[in-house]
Amino acid sequence: MKVDCLIVGSGLAGLCFAETLYQHGRSFALISDDSQQASEVAGGLYNPLILNRFTLAFKAAEQLDLAIPFYQTIEARLGQTLDFKQEVLRIMHDAGEQNRWFESRDRSGYSRFMDEAFVDSPHPNVEAPHKLARVLETGRLDTAAFRKTYIAWLKSAGLYTQERFEHAQLKLSEVTATYQQFEADQVIFAEGFGLKQNPYFNYLPLQGSKGELLTIYAPELDLQQVLKSTVFIIPLGDHRYRVGATYDNHRLDNLPTEEARAYLLERLRKFLKVDFEVEAHVAGVRPSVSDRKPLVGRHPQHAQLAVLNGFGSRGVMIAPFAADALYQNLFEGAELDTELDIKRFDGRSKRPQGRN
Ligand SMILES: Cc1cc2nc3c(=O)[nH]c(=O)nc-3n(C[C@H](O)[C@H](O)[C@H](O)COP(=O)(O)OP(=O)(O)OC[C@H]3O[C@@H](n4cnc5c(N)ncnc54)[C@H](O)[C@@H]3O)c2cc1C
Repeated sequence: MKVDCLIVGSGLAGLCFAETLYQHGRSFALISDDSQQASEVAGGLYNPLILNRFTLAFKAAEQLDLAIPFYQTIEARLGQTLDFKQEVLRIMHDAGEQNRWFESRDRSGYSRFMDEAFVDSPHPNVEAPHKLARVLETGRLDTAAFRKTYIAWLKSAGLYTQERFEHAQLKLSEVTATYQQFEADQVIFAEGFGLKQNPYFNYLPLQGSKGELLTIYAPELDLQQVLKSTVFIIPLGDHRYRVGATYDNHRLDNLPTEEARAYLLERLRKFLKVDFEVEAHVAGVRPSVSDRKPLVGRHPQHAQLAVLNGFGSRGVMIAPFAADALYQNLFEGAELDTELDIKRFDGRSKRPQGRN
């Protein structure tokens, strides 16, 4: 089967690249296993502001302007609501934080995303004596539903293979790549933290950060907004809430731990004064990079291989933007933004270990 692109990975990166190809009328197929779980378990929040520093995330406005219509197009085509508009309220801890909020809001480009007035606690059992600040243009993408719906659509079109991609079986000619029955002009590796096992791209400084999340059932709590204190509480409907997340740079596996559960519950109980029970506990590894920027671009020796990775804790906003940048680079000859381009690691880290 001859395709323009063979994509490896069915997380936000792989699926957003598939959609980008689809929208441009390019042919593709996708191979993925379930070895990585980040997109399956993610909280799914999109929020332009970094909530402990009150600074805008990398290219926040550009990313949002692209991501929202991108997901809307998918929703319309697949007939499923995936993007839930939800306010994010940051619980203020003291007057100093309130001042810092206004200082940040005065910066150019910030008032679009930072509301002017503080609000009172949205619920009598949520403690917020210093009020809450509202971030604008926020929401939640149901990433598990996105994967389920999109993969079902790919399967129905015969474009999806559920299995591990074995890098040793990839054969490279001068300009194309062959893998099993596929002959592709480009192979796009969108493997999340699985990149560590990729002999072509494992020279890149992907670090990984394990995150854990709980789902709680709190019958007395009726919240519409996402609250952020030292942890997030994200309403899912029917009195269910997602609580997270943790960050662990050492134990990089998908196994929930008692330690993380205790950490999340302790922090949650500091501001949430209602009874609840824990219904679920999940874990995954965020593909994070030392400089907190995505990893995008062609392999330095093998032009038919490219990478789309490094979305860290912000995959929902970055994925459509980075997918578009990679598409423009591969098919339209556009230069990649130097902050995305993996060329920034040429010569600075271990030499590439690609096969010949
Ligand atoms: C607990 C937690 C909470 C998070 N919350 C948020 C949030 O609220 N908002 C947000 O924007 N981001 C959040 N993130 C981050 C977000 O999940 C990631 O940025 C994003 O999912 C990364 O997507 P990805 O496609 O690069 O990687 P992944 O989702 O890891 O997908 C990689 C895919 O490639 C497959 N794969 C890997 N190797 C192979 C191979 N050899 N053969 C076949 N398939 C392979 C994997 O099985 C997987 O399907 C969170 C992450 C975690 C862990």
